[in-house]
Amino acid sequence: MPAPTTADRIRGSLLGLAWGDAFGCPMEGWRAGRIADFFGDCRGLIDAWPGAARGLPPRDRRRLRPIGLHSDDTQQAIALVGCCLEGFSPERWGEWLVEGFAAGAWRGFGRNFVGAVHRLRKGGAPGAAGSPSAGMGAAMRIGPLGALLDGETLRETVFAASLMTHGDIRAAAIAFAVARTVRALIDGREPGVIRAALPELVAGAEEIWLAPREGWTHDISAGHQVSRGLAALLAGGIDDPAALRANIAKVARPHLADGFTQAHPNQGFALLGGAHGLLMALRDDAVPGETLAEIVRQGYDTDTVAAIAGAVLGARFGTDWIPTARLLDGPRLDAWADALISREAPEDRAAFFAAEAAHTAAEKRFAAEWVPERRTGR
Ligand SMILES: [Mg+2]
Repeated sequence: MPAPTTADRIRGSLLGLAWGDAFGCPMEGWRAGRIADFFGDCRGLIDAWPGAARGLPPRDRRRLRPIGLHSDDTQQAIALVGCCLEGFSPERWGEWLVEGFAAGAWRGFGRNFVGAVHRLRKGGAPGAAGSPSAGMGAAMRIGPLGALLDGETLRETVFAASLMTHGDIRAAAIAFAVARTVRALIDGREPGVIRAALPELVAGAEEIWLAPREGWTHDISAGHQVSRGLAALLAGGIDDPAALRANIAKVARPHLADGFTQAHPNQGFALLGGAHGLLMALRDDAVPGETLAEIVRQGYDTDTVAAIAGAVLGARFGTDWIPTARLLDGPRLDAWADALISREAPEDRAAFFAAEAAHTAAEKRFAAEWVPERRTGR
């Protein structure tokens, strides 16, 4: 593979995210055994759902989505890029979140996201809107910001945008680790150099957002848990994926919130899925498509961990490896990837919401066809 150009790595930060999202979407929430039954070793995206999907429980059939359609990870990433192209402020990011909700644009989102949007919709202050979550819902959408911003602006934007939906220092710190890694890859840094510097860079950013700040009420009680966790994982070596997964579970286990039944590396916690997606993409011998396949084979939150890894892999390897023709809305996502270079959005807010709302409606119709026996009257 010839070395990708800087422009191609910039585009890759968004297209890699979108591909990881679409690749992991069909099996989101599934366990590894069922994924193996339906998708084998996950070498590629299937063309259509096999008839065997009719045998899934209604609860799962209701969640089937058109193959190749991107989900919340990608649409929130593009929204954040659109917001930054207008000139980021917490108030403006709040407008995007609330207007997108009113337009019916958002789909597949988590309860932490929707809780924050409701608080903003009712006039809540941006610094107090975030849900009490140390999940990876901020990290999943953040990669392309590393292509757009740098230095203090990158740090401040990542923390503010992240804490507005996930009000826990850990959710923002893992998002910063992802965005800062994307930035360094686009600047041409080698993975080994990035790995050596990352824990300290994250610790420095944590330090700034652990200090009291007027108007911001996010939970800082976890302190430097993310930078220390990343340091421990990197010290243990990340080359062998199975050993990395075991180490991630070990490092995260003492910090799990109530309700986590097991420390699975694809679960929604900064030091589980967030660290897993980031570090898998920073292995010396990572092959991009194989890395995503290895991630989705593990099950659980497949699309989000693959989206995090995909953004980093795109910033590292460019776009040659990404089958954009398999993305349902490929040309439009491609135009947004170009916007990271031109700094001009290919559609305005209203057009973005309309396009995403149309996909969301189509996704609902698609799922309804798989559950024809569902009765709505009572
Ligand atoms: Mg998703």
